[in-house]
Amino acid sequence: MKASDLYPREYKNFHDIPKLALPLLNADFIRKLQKFRTNINAPIYANPNISGWVREYGNPKSRHYAVDRLSDAGDVFTEKWFTLHLWYAAIQNPDFNGIGLYLDTKFRGKPHPMIHLDTRPLKKKYHKVMWIRENLHEGTYYHNLHHPRFNECLVEVKKMIDSV
Ligand SMILES: [Zn+2]
Repeated sequence: MKASDLYPREYKNFHDIPKLALPLLNADFIRKLQKFRTNINAPIYANPNISGWVREYGNPKSRHYAVDRLSDAGDVFTEKWFTLHLWYAAIQNPDFNGIGLYLDTKFRGKPHPMIHLDTRPLKKKYHKVMWIRENLHEGTYYHNLHHPRFNECLVEVKKMIDSV
């Protein structure tokens, strides 16, 4: 089912999702996102760009890819100080299986970390996919939580938070 078939009250905190994205978004993903928002009771802002929700180009493996399927991914922001809380909460939430943290993004015109969430099927039980992207060499991804840079990136997020 498409998110455009939902009643607006079913995604009451996400009316900022670009309208054109809704027919290409999986309704169940949006329901889970709303449930997460309701439970966490802290601000979650939709990425105002449609490409933060659906893409009809690029890598078909991206959960945002919406050709012959519906996207089950969304990129969101929260208040800077809440970013790491939201990221950890998403990792612990059984609904989300892909969780990315982006350090090279902007929100409201200023550098601001972004969180990607998706409901990809798990290849193995407990094998969620987590990554961090930072702006080195046009966006470097770290998928390995043991990569030495991974923890340094978390420190970078703290610095971004302190530079409000
Ligand atoms: Zn994304």
